[in-house]
Amino acid sequence: DGMNVLRIDDAPLPKSKNLDVLKEFEKTKSKKSASFVVVGHVDAGKSTLMGRLLLDLHVVDQRTIQKYRKEAESIGKSSFALAWVLDQRSEERSRGVTIDIATNKFETDATSFTILDAPGHRDFIPNMIAGASQADFAILVVDATTGAFEAGLKGQTREHSLLLRSMGVSRIIVAINKLDTVGWSQARFDEISQQVSGFLLATGFQLKNVSFVPVSGLLGDNIVKRSTDAAAGWYEGKTLVEELESSEPMARALHKPLRLTISEVYRSTQSPLTVSGRIDAGSLQAGDALLVQPSGEKAYVKSLELDQEPVDWAVAGQNVVIHLSNIDPIHVRVGDIICDTKQPIPCIDTFTVKILAFDILMPMQVDVHRGRLHAAGQIVEMSAVLDKVKGTVMKKKPRIVKPGSVARVVVKMGTKVPLEAGQRVVLRSGGETVAAGLLE
Ligand code: GDP
Repeated sequence: DGMNVLRIDDAPLPKSKNLDVLKEFEKTKSKKSASFVVVGHVDAGKSTLMGRLLLDLHVVDQRTIQKYRKEAESIGKSSFALAWVLDQRSEERSRGVTIDIATNKFETDATSFTILDAPGHRDFIPNMIAGASQADFAILVVDATTGAFEAGLKGQTREHSLLLRSMGVSRIIVAINKLDTVGWSQARFDEISQQVSGFLLATGFQLKNVSFVPVSGLLGDNIVKRSTDAAAGWYEGKTLVEELESSEPMARALHKPLRLTISEVYRSTQSPLTVSGRIDAGSLQAGDALLVQPSGEKAYVKSLELDQEPVDWAVAGQNVVIHLSNIDPIHVRVGDIICDTKQPIPCIDTFTVKILAFDILMPMQVDVHRGRLHAAGQIVEMSAVLDKVKGTVMKKKPRIVKPGSVARVVVKMGTKVPLEAGQRVVLRSGGETVAAGLLE
């Protein structure tokens, strides 16, 4: 697109302030920051719930909501107004669905939160994977309306919980939603809580990390404000926001070598080559030399931005914009990894992975997904079926792996891809998620 005619690769090297980034980070650390993903079946009320959360925390104002309400009514979908808060692009609006991981930020007194939105449409599972692999915890939204939960639990709710678990999320807040439709029945809340507990326990979650909150996203009960409905008087637990605030973010991998997966590549006023993404591990500062994988090309950090403000440095857990120099843009693509030049991520075409099977596995073609990166591959070896809890070998060289089992398999891809031990990958086949797990 004309980008590659710009010779920025022979510009003078940017200057470094040689800061001790981790020390600088310690000095500024005032607020806890945490990110979460929102999952649950289609129509469970995820978007409405998040819209309500942002409205009641005054992140968006009543006027904006009024505007959305008018637009929503004009296409005959008035209930979508709250949901649109999360999703401000008109093309998506007219289709009536939320796509992509729109990152929305909000703050409470103690914590700065990022919502990694992950809608429940089947086709959008790859986005959910990208979201879940970055999340400190999850909100699982369940529709309490008679019959809806029973239908949802079997399908998407089940797949989503398994996926969360295999992507390393261990803390879940279960929002039992639309309780207004069942007259705030405590029996209904208890029944659903019990069933979801049993299900999450079987999936490998520890119940001390799971909480249940009865809510109505549409009306706003128990989200930021406590329900004032007399029928809901039996609930004395925390609101959704209180549950969010009491959730501990996962430890940041600050001391590890730099890893950042590129989520966007574009041309900006500061540089013909600007990238953005979340720092998964390590830190970086202006002037740093970096390596882009899989191209193996070196680049330099001309300048950095956090939340549209120029900064000198950034650390793991932050979403950063980097203006690059001294590299030809043809070597940089979405899904590539920016890493430390001395301890770069390797590019490999074969890996061993410990996976949770969602479907029957056998030697077969699979698409390998890691965040936004995906590559065609094949299961070339089925090494063992493992004990779900202990991880010990139960059966060597199985012919097939059944859904719900944990197994060790070897996958070979058609091309070399930046991947390393400890990363989480998802295997898909024919548009369905068939397995997810951890690289060994
Ligand atoms: P999503 O697909 O999970 O994002 O679900 P939406 O947020 O789009 O909501 C689906 C439908 O459920 C919409 O018509 C909402 O207005 C409705 N809805 C969402 N939350 C509630 C609730 O708490 N009570 C009631 N009665 N309806 C709700």
